This record gives sequence, structure tokens and C-alpha cells, in this order.
Amino acid sequence: MSYSRGVHTTTNQFRTHMVGDLSPSLIGTTVKLAGWVQVVRAQSKIIFLVLRDFDGLVQCVVLPEHEAAFSAAKNISQESVVSVEGVIVEAKQAPGGFEIQVTSLEVISASNPELPIPVVERGGNETDQAIRLDYRWIDLRKPEKLLVFKVWTLLEQSLRDYFIEQRFLQIHSPKLMSSPSESGAEVFKVKYFDRFAYLAQSPQFYKQMAMAAGFERVFEIGPVFRAEPSFTTRHATEFTGFDFEMSFITSHEDVIDIWSKAIAHGLQSVADTYGKEIKERYDIDVVVPSLPFPQLTMIEAKALLAKKNIADDRSGDLSPEQERALGEIAKEKYGHEFIFITEYPASVRPFYHMRKEEDKDITLSFDLLWKGLEITTGAQREHRHDVLEAQAKEKGMNKDSIAHYLDFFRYGCPPHGGAGIGFGRMVMLMLNLESIREASFVYRGVKRLTP
Ligand code: ATP
Repeated sequence: MSYSRGVHTTTNQFRTHMVGDLSPSLIGTTVKLAGWVQVVRAQSKIIFLVLRDFDGLVQCVVLPEHEAAFSAAKNISQESVVSVEGVIVEAKQAPGGFEIQVTSLEVISASNPELPIPVVERGGNETDQAIRLDYRWIDLRKPEKLLVFKVWTLLEQSLRDYFIEQRFLQIHSPKLMSSPSESGAEVFKVKYFDRFAYLAQSPQFYKQMAMAAGFERVFEIGPVFRAEPSFTTRHATEFTGFDFEMSFITSHEDVIDIWSKAIAHGLQSVADTYGKEIKERYDIDVVVPSLPFPQLTMIEAKALLAKKNIADDRSGDLSPEQERALGEIAKEKYGHEFIFITEYPASVRPFYHMRKEEDKDITLSFDLLWKGLEITTGAQREHRHDVLEAQAKEKGMNKDSIAHYLDFFRYGCPPHGGAGIGFGRMVMLMLNLESIREASFVYRGVKRLTP
């Protein structure tokens, strides 16, 4: 999908074309456009306007002979919403080689002339992020910010298409839970009539319920809530999760296989449609990864990290520094941006991860790192009720709080596994954005509940 010409154009009182529809082949045609006035340059005999819509920018000129338009343009404030009618004329100096000679101009919604943040940042330095986030709707008017969400939409659509082709069903599970979905920590507790509810930290339990329900393969794209008092560039308190779960697998390798193929498919679509624009605006090449993605077990990964003298301060798990170093190892050793780390010790994984038959301290699980940052956690799940119950007990889980969950495995449940992915993190990494705040339409963090 892309916002291809002709598909989105609606002819109505405001517009006959969008900027992307215009081309030199239309020189001589009268068109009506609508959008925001990004720039006004008024001279005594001519007024230049730069009009911006969803597609991009076009230069417009207003001459005094069109009196009403000229006087409206003279008084217009930057970022006002207007509709202009005019003729496309050749203009060698204008981008694209043409401009609009305006014959009439209607101010649909005037902007306050005092903009709280600029839309066109000067000198390459952006306004402070906190202020930009306060005025996020104005920040998002910048074409490079809009691109983030064009890319997001396409990536989400191509992943959705891929999974549906692989016979996955889409589910939407509740976000209000009677008990915390994974652990007691990092959960938001909210008042729910005469008792409390908890906001879902993942759709994990419901994805597994779908496996017990015979759905066989499901995915969900939805909000995930984490009450983590975290101020990193990769954590939000509410984010969009992409989760999937599949039945009748032989091991976590089946999950790794399908997720690698889905990523390659998603990145291929993004590269095909937006690769050029991403290169222009972000100076990044969208690399379509080769298959299969490289893998290291946790033991192998730690050995390679030790060789590089990277401090190991997370027994069994990986520190952000170690993840970064593994990203470099993936590049150097395998020429790949992605790397799966498998076989995490049971001590650092949740009770529902299946353990290796021949070594119960090791789980059939993985994390996927992209450019040295975790984007996915996945595993084969334990579907045997008695084993699951024992593992929960060993982890000190409160049996009452997971009683409903354990019931899913009492009445026949196939072997299954799946993964959870942070969508914002993927988009952030794809475009090398400085923070998940820039990849979130509206970011939620410890100190941010507005706008
Ligand atoms: P991390 O170790 O980075 O905090 P996690 O191990 O808690 O992540 P999971 O519970 O495995 O993460 O969640 C699955 C995926 O969701 C992660 O791989 C990541 O991409 C994303 N994710 C997790 N927590 C956050 C968060 N607070 N904000 C944004 N994305 C997140």
C-alpha cells in the first residue's frame, strides 16, 4: 500500500487535487488545493506562499490583479489552513518546475500568528523535545514526522497481511484484568467500580487462551501498559504491542522462523515504497534482512562478549551495553542487523516459558536484537498443566492470581509458542530516531500524560 495518486483525491469544495497529484504534465490546468500555509513571503507586487498538505509542498504565487486573493494572502498568518484555486504554470526556479498562479484564496482556519514551536526548524537544531511534545500536533506537521506514521502504517499493514496469509486470526483481548497479567510489578492498578482492575502488561494469557480455544494461530496489535519508572529512550508506559502465538510447533525455532520471514516481508514493503524518502529525510538505507537471521545461544553470546571485554553485570540476562555489543557482533560476524539470542536461563524468564527437556535451567526462548536493541521476546510456552503449575510455584507466583490462566491448560491445549514485539521500537530503529517518544503518535511516560 501507498498513498498512491488518484486513490485518495477527493473533489469537493476545498480541493480537486492534492500536492502529490501535481506534475508538469498538468501545466495549464486549473486546480484547487487545500492545506497549511508553511511560508508567506509578501512583496509589494507579488506574494509567495508555500502550501503543505499530506503529500508535500507546492509553491503558489498571488498577483495584485487577483485583488481578493492578494489582500487575503497579504494578511495571512503562517500555518493557517487555506483553500487555493489557480492555474499550474511553468516555473523553472520552483521545485518540480511548476507553481500555482492563484486566482482565489479562502482562509478556512486562521492560525494564531504566535506559533508555540516552529514547523520549519532553522539551523538544523530542533526545538527542545519536551516543548515539541507539549505541542505534538504542530511538531507532527513536519513532513519527516508525518513520514514516521506513513512508514508505521505500511509496516503494520504488511505484517498483518503476512500473518493473515499464514492463516493467523486477529484477536483483540481485554486490557482490563482482574489480576496482573505477568507479575505484580510494573502494573497499573485502576479503580473498577467497587474493586480494582489492572491494565494488561501484555496479551500473553489471552493469546494462549486462543490456543486452548483451537484458534491455532493468532496475532494482536494493541495497547500494552507498563508501570515502569523508566526514563530511557526505549521505554514508554503505554505502547503498541504486536503479539502473535501459534500452535503445533516443535520448538521456539518455528516462532523464530515465521517472525524472521515476517520482518523481511515488512521491511521489503517499506524499502519499496518509502526507501527513497527515508534516505532523503533520515539518510538511512532500509536494509531488507537476509534469511535465516543469525542466532547465538546465551552461552555463546556471553563467551563472545567476554572476548570483547564487555562487562557482564546481569547474570543470565543481557545489559543494554551487552545488547549493543551483540549488535556489533551481528554486523561484524554475520553482516546482519538482526540477531536472535536463544536459550535464556529459566531464572530470568517467566514461569510459562517451556524448559529444555535435557536441561531444566534453560528455556526454549529467545530475544531478537535489531541494531543492538531488543525488539522481541518469544518462546515456546509450557502447555502441560502439571509442569506449568510446578514452574509457577517454583517462581513464587500467587496461585489464586493465575488460577484462571492455569485452567486454560486443563481441557486440552496444543504445544504452542509466540512472541511479543514493541512496534514503536521497531519504527524508532528503522528510522534511527533518537527515542521512542519520536516514534509514538502521542508518547506516554512517567512524567507525561498530556496532550
Ligand atoms: P525491556 O527489557 O527492554 O524492558 P521487556 O523484556 O520488558 O523489555 P517484553 O516484556 O519481552 O519486554 O516485551 C516485548 C517487547 O515489547 C520488547 O521486546 C520491546 O520491544 C517492547 N517493550 C517492552 N517494554 C516496553 C516499553 N516500556 N516501551 C516500549 N516498548 C516496550
